[in-house]
Amino acid sequence: MTNLTPFLKYLAELHKPVKLSRFITWGVENMECRLHCGACCIAPSISSSFPLHPNGKEAGERCKNLTDDNLCKLFGKPERPKVCHDFKATEWVCGSTAIEAIAILNELETLTR
Ligand code: SF4
Ligand code: SF4
Repeated sequence: MTNLTPFLKYLAELHKPVKLSRFITWGVENMECRLHCGACCIAPSISSSFPLHPNGKEAGERCKNLTDDNLCKLFGKPERPKVCHDFKATEWVCGSTAIEAIAILNELETLTR
């Protein structure tokens, strides 16, 4: 995996103190979401209230709306958080595996905290 740290630090510095969720949506959608990945449903925090998470979700907490095979139970429903709807799969965030995506998202979460 390419070392993205300098690039992520540069972007984080540019956009501090913008929340990670907002920051990611500025990416350009340039790939199809990997089905059954689920990394963006675990690594980032979500501050708003949504089903099964009345106080939002902590970074690293698995979303309770994620099925055992890592699909969103709220997909297509109005109660799905806006931040989830707005999140677009991009290569620089999603990497080539779920493990890479978790690592990148963790790093972004830390850098934009
Ligand atoms: S991290 Fe990227 S590839 Fe994985 S579920 Fe989220 S949008 Fe899809
Ligand atoms: S609501 Fe759906 S898309 Fe949003 S974090 Fe939970 S499982 Fe993922």
